[in-house]
Amino acid sequence: MAENCLPEINSRFCYEVRQIDRPQEILFQMFKRFEERAVIITSGQLTGMIITHMAHENGIPFRVCTIDTLRLFPETYTFLEKVEARYGIQIERIKPDLENVDRMVNLHGEFLFFDSKDKQEHCCHTRKVEPLERLLRENIDVWFSGLRRDQSENRRSVPKAQIVERKGRSILKINPLFDWTEKQVRDFIKEHDIPINPLLVSRMNGQFYDSLGCIICTTPMLPGESRRAGRWRWQNVQVEEGNKKECGLHFSI
Ligand code: SF4
Repeated sequence: MAENCLPEINSRFCYEVRQIDRPQEILFQMFKRFEERAVIITSGQLTGMIITHMAHENGIPFRVCTIDTLRLFPETYTFLEKVEARYGIQIERIKPDLENVDRMVNLHGEFLFFDSKDKQEHCCHTRKVEPLERLLRENIDVWFSGLRRDQSENRRSVPKAQIVERKGRSILKINPLFDWTEKQVRDFIKEHDIPINPLLVSRMNGQFYDSLGCIICTTPMLPGESRRAGRWRWQNVQVEEGNKKECGLHFSI
């Protein structure tokens, strides 16, 4: 790749992306231009799978990464392998620094996230945010994410494209499905027979998973609960006090 010829990421790229209507075309243009410096980062949830499918359908090489906190559901690990087989790709597992994890566990215990919001954020930073930052810092110019506006109150203003600054570098973050509805997502998945994590389709006495993170911090939801209710459920009492229940992957950088 002609890496040295790539222009520095700036707001002009946001403008260019906003002019393209079809998510497929955005993926095509960006992967063609940036090659391995563009990446889909997904935890294997619905929108991430749609983006991966679209990139595959474009017929040009594309790159997919996932943050493996080492605490994901067994079903998620198995599912990622299934996705790799379906699309003939290798999903890069970005893992936390084990020395950092050991230090955290020795200081605060394995289950520190139950203690306080601060400790939950510390754990999320160690297991999720730091590995993501390492990935972005090393070699990424374009980051595709599956964020959608209808996923939570905190995500209502998610843009189609934005510049995120990291350690003096600018990264173009693109949310190609930013304005899709849940129905659009489900219809597209059905129409194209896109693989879904089995946990996201199972129903247990009316309870279901709407999104998946680490195994202990993600619980199934009851009908009528808000979409982030299953995450860090013990913090639900603090939501009205402004707790946005985010792990920091998308909103700290
Ligand atoms: S979701 Fe829970 S276990 Fe996973 S990184 Fe965050 S606090 Fe830690």
